[in-house]
Amino acid sequence: MNEVSVKIERPKTFCGLVGVYGAKDASSYIYYGLNALQHRGQEAAGIVTREKAEEKSIFNVHKNTGLVANVFKDEKILRGILKGDAGIGHNRYSTTGSAESKKNVQPIVVNYRKGNLAIAHNGNLTNSHRLRDELTESGTLFQTTTDTEIILHLIARSQKENVVDRVYEALEAIRGAFSLVILTDDQLIVARDPYGFRPLALGKLDKAFIAASETCAFDVIGAKYLRDVEPGEIIVIDDEAVMTQEVRSTFLSDIPKESRHCIFEYIYFSRPDSKIYGESVDKVRRKIGKSLAEESPVQNDEDEKLVVISVPDSSNTATLGYVSQSLKMGIKAKFEIGLIRSHYIGRTFIQPNQDMRDLKVKMKFNTVKGVLKGRKVVIVDDSIVRGTTSKQLVKLIREAEPSEVHFRVSSPPIMHPCFYGMDFPSEQELFANQFDGDIARMTRELNVDSLAYLSLEKLLESAPTEVEDSTSGQLRNYCTACFSGKYPTDVELNSKEEFEANINEAKM
Ligand code: SF4
Repeated sequence: MNEVSVKIERPKTFCGLVGVYGAKDASSYIYYGLNALQHRGQEAAGIVTREKAEEKSIFNVHKNTGLVANVFKDEKILRGILKGDAGIGHNRYSTTGSAESKKNVQPIVVNYRKGNLAIAHNGNLTNSHRLRDELTESGTLFQTTTDTEIILHLIARSQKENVVDRVYEALEAIRGAFSLVILTDDQLIVARDPYGFRPLALGKLDKAFIAASETCAFDVIGAKYLRDVEPGEIIVIDDEAVMTQEVRSTFLSDIPKESRHCIFEYIYFSRPDSKIYGESVDKVRRKIGKSLAEESPVQNDEDEKLVVISVPDSSNTATLGYVSQSLKMGIKAKFEIGLIRSHYIGRTFIQPNQDMRDLKVKMKFNTVKGVLKGRKVVIVDDSIVRGTTSKQLVKLIREAEPSEVHFRVSSPPIMHPCFYGMDFPSEQELFANQFDGDIARMTRELNVDSLAYLSLEKLLESAPTEVEDSTSGQLRNYCTACFSGKYPTDVELNSKEEFEANINEAKM
């Protein structure tokens, strides 16, 4: 028998971040925050805290592969090891639990000539190979294969006297996507790349400050959302900030006129109960579902209500929007729970003659046959990546004998890789790319009666466009590169190959 890991293909990013400064038992807050951000990375987690003892600061670290609850299951870790009033935490996505992968678990910590430094990063750099080569040539020894360690070395090697200046200098040298939480002996520094690809929000917890990838991490501990960390902004939180209740902030030198927030966060990745880029994910995701119905409605048969089902859980909100707009348009439709998703599966063992793809989907999803049998069914999914899961889902739904199956996707076809932190497969493996975006061929391949994707124009119309209240004067805009192929930044020569090599290394 073979052991298989039951993973259903979904887009993946590399992490969720939490940073806390000025709270007794900071690690408990970070732990709850990481739990709320578990969807952003399920394969490794770590926390580093700063403990002040007799004028000295000690960095306490615990990290491992596994879910947050497993990594910190021993109560002594939070209470006994991770002491201190400041700290940072990280959830990471990777694909294996190998020793190599363990080395890559963040936060990464060093003790260098100026003291202690810990860093956690969400995003991907687009000039990492060049920087890594340059640093290696000048004698830097790398412990991990992550982009993040490059940032750490750049900070540690900077000749600037002040730690914030050292961070500034390092961030000026890197390109691509980075939301960061950095812990020093005296500060929590939070920063975001000049395009603001990945989300990062700032909040308050009594007198303490907290930063997190999404605001759902604030809600769980009763923290209040203050604002987003702006693209290109470096915020310094220290004892003075806690005393005055004001953080200090500075901006990187080259802030583009428009931000390029990852629009995929609204489509799929962020939790609907979060606020990202200053807007409720639920609100935007419903709007996306409504736009999809406006653009590609399915008509009901006379007197028969259309049965609209979502691929749980990430498509639920867009499906609600799809149904409400269908009703507005005079289409008789109802939202039904037609697919049930199991949340409790781990590894399993299969007989070599079993079809592993069938088994994977069946262990994860089952249909409510009475809901689907004989009905005209619309499935709403947020995206199609490789198409393997979509095909298996349609097969499963067809076994329930609906009269028709219509597939609606609440994003445009994914045609291109992402260099900014979403782990899509190579271009050749992307479903829409394999069929050159030809809807008729994709419809046949999926074995559905009709297939429609949301257009890029409608997607952009669904996302907030009003001018952000930005100190730097930057206007709000979105990255859509995986749909359009228009990358907002230069992707350095060979970066695609480098990127894929990098991802593969990280997976080893
Ligand atoms: S390429 Fe796609 S997934 Fe990547 S940052 Fe841009 S919109 Fe997001």
